[in-house]
Amino acid sequence: MGLAKWWRALDELIFPPNPPCPLCGQRASLLVGACQSCLDSLAIGWKEGEAYGYPHFSLFPYQGFARDLVHKMKFQSGYEIACTLGKFLGLASREEPRLAQVDLLVPVPLHPSRMQERGFNQAGVLADKISRALRRPINEHVVRIRQTAPQSGLTATTRKKNLQGAFAVLPGADFQGKQCLIVDDVITSGYTFSTVARVIEQYGGKPLGVFASRTEIYEESEHSAQEL
Ligand SMILES: [Zn+2]
Repeated sequence: MGLAKWWRALDELIFPPNPPCPLCGQRASLLVGACQSCLDSLAIGWKEGEAYGYPHFSLFPYQGFARDLVHKMKFQSGYEIACTLGKFLGLASREEPRLAQVDLLVPVPLHPSRMQERGFNQAGVLADKISRALRRPINEHVVRIRQTAPQSGLTATTRKKNLQGAFAVLPGADFQGKQCLIVDDVITSGYTFSTVARVIEQYGGKPLGVFASRTEIYEESEHSAQEL
């Protein structure tokens, strides 16, 4: 190895070049974990909302670039994307006073067969990063006991039906009196979130939620269950 080459290798060892942005794979990443262009396109804006009486927080609107990204995270090998969005969620959650009271995190579970198909649960990856930021444990006692059709292709009535009996709580969950933060990638109609919340509530827990992305109904205004 020539001296110049060796010197460059040493230089890169001490001052590693910025890694590529995990969201676009093209531009160099900033310290925060993505490039400026992707950060701008995500239109990050922390927002509080409510679904069926359960409070929740979300990071960016589900549109354009963000929508494509969430789609990639779910349906292709989007593990890196999930890690990056999870880090952003962790940073935001740490700044939210209402999340300081959280006792544990509950990622919305995938059915085992879908988990096998995808290789990872995107909600689990997000929860893992938030768990590190908030220093709270993950509780995986809520499980999906029935394979359900994707909520996205269904009408309001069938969405509700689709989720009936889909979730269960394993013995030893210990939700009693605890603030349980439900984690998922997107809040759409709020049915999945409220269904998991109700299950946790039956076991004495106090559910609230955090999501990477939100659809328009949560973007436009505060809403009530009647509007859904
Ligand atoms: Zn980027």
